[in-house]
Amino acid sequence: MPPPAGLGKGVQTKTTMDLIDIHPPTNRPTQQDGRPDPALPSFRLAARMAGLKPSAIREILKVTESPSVISFAGGLPAPELIPVSAISRAAQATLARDGEGALQYGPTEGHAPLRAWVCDQVRATAGLQASPDQVLITAGSQQGLDLVAKVLIDPGDVVLVDNPAYLGALQAFRAYEARLVGIPADGEGMRADRLREFLQTGGRRPKLLYLVPNFQNPTGSSLSAERRREIALVAAEFGIPILEDDPYGCLRYGGEAAPAVAALPETADCVYLGTTSKILAPGLRIAWLIARDPRLYERLVRAKQAVDLHTSSFSQRLVCSYVTQTGVLEGHIARLCAAYSLRRTAMLNALERAFPPGCTWTRPDGGLFVWAELPAPVDTEELLREAVRRGVTFVPGAAFWVGRSVRNTLRLNFSNASEGRIAEGISRLAEAIAACPGARP
Ligand code: PMP
Repeated sequence: MPPPAGLGKGVQTKTTMDLIDIHPPTNRPTQQDGRPDPALPSFRLAARMAGLKPSAIREILKVTESPSVISFAGGLPAPELIPVSAISRAAQATLARDGEGALQYGPTEGHAPLRAWVCDQVRATAGLQASPDQVLITAGSQQGLDLVAKVLIDPGDVVLVDNPAYLGALQAFRAYEARLVGIPADGEGMRADRLREFLQTGGRRPKLLYLVPNFQNPTGSSLSAERRREIALVAAEFGIPILEDDPYGCLRYGGEAAPAVAALPETADCVYLGTTSKILAPGLRIAWLIARDPRLYERLVRAKQAVDLHTSSFSQRLVCSYVTQTGVLEGHIARLCAAYSLRRTAMLNALERAFPPGCTWTRPDGGLFVWAELPAPVDTEELLREAVRRGVTFVPGAAFWVGRSVRNTLRLNFSNASEGRIAEGISRLAEAIAACPGARP
């Protein structure tokens, strides 16, 4: 069934997929006699701002920054594992070597040696063959999401996403007034048959298919190798470019790696995003976008020029100094994986011990997150209030869902607390669940 007419009127619209969300246009202040009403603000928001909601959860979480609170909320790397001394040495070496060149304006595409390193890195870690002239260095992969959305999405265009999906991507797409359609998943990730079913319903051809194939945020689950191929085939058949976002692929603690979707022969067109945020330090804001099609690449460069001219010259050169030392990044990633693997196991064991019957959760082979589902009467936004009272936080799942109100899911981060604190935090959370109506079996 094609999506019904009248989309964009601020209604939740049911389709066969039941998964489309739509945001109302901004109410613009009216003016009388062409003169501004002094009671109204002089700025008038763009209609697209209607899709960008403030987060009530952020407000709750703001009050939880005390050290006594155990946070499973953010997606933060372990602070004690950020290699501060090595980064400091790389910074000094960069300034000693490049002097003012490290602090000067640079090309929009990025620092050439870093772009060359990105090609080596994605070949080694994702099986992806790329040339430096396909690589654009971005200020975080969040900027990559924004640039791709800016270049491709007109208001009302359909973007296909996982359901649940990464909130930052949903925000980036909503900022350009995309219509988001969540494709259901099973244990192997997004279902290729449901994707095909949606595409066969007719309607407007989607502009983009967004995937996080490795240790997805928020669920921690990965697309199987077979499913990657099936999805790539369906996308190619219907002429839909894939946006593959891969911040977690190097953080693997078990299971078999599958090739990047961008590396598959079945994939017709693709933009691939990678980042140093989870494997080095998010504050450096160094990430990359690889666009297969040179025409799209050129548009993305133009769009970035309009945003910030280029990514910080100093950060780029610093990262380049760090990552091009033989074995240094690999050694650091191995230390991260060893630590996070123990923390993941600590969280899974604690959940097993403490959570009441009727709860389920994912068992990710990597990344930073476990996704849990509680018995349906539990509303995890209410649970968060109970949890904060007991000194533990998490992210309620509702905001990650597209076009569906799912109130009983939550995302738990395991990278940012020690194993002992994880065990303590999960038992506090179990107490909070027990205090919630409907949680007891
Ligand atoms: N994509 C996904 C799936 C993420 O989880 C994140 C960070 N949480 C990002 C993109 C953005 O990462 P960054 O901008 O720090 O590279």
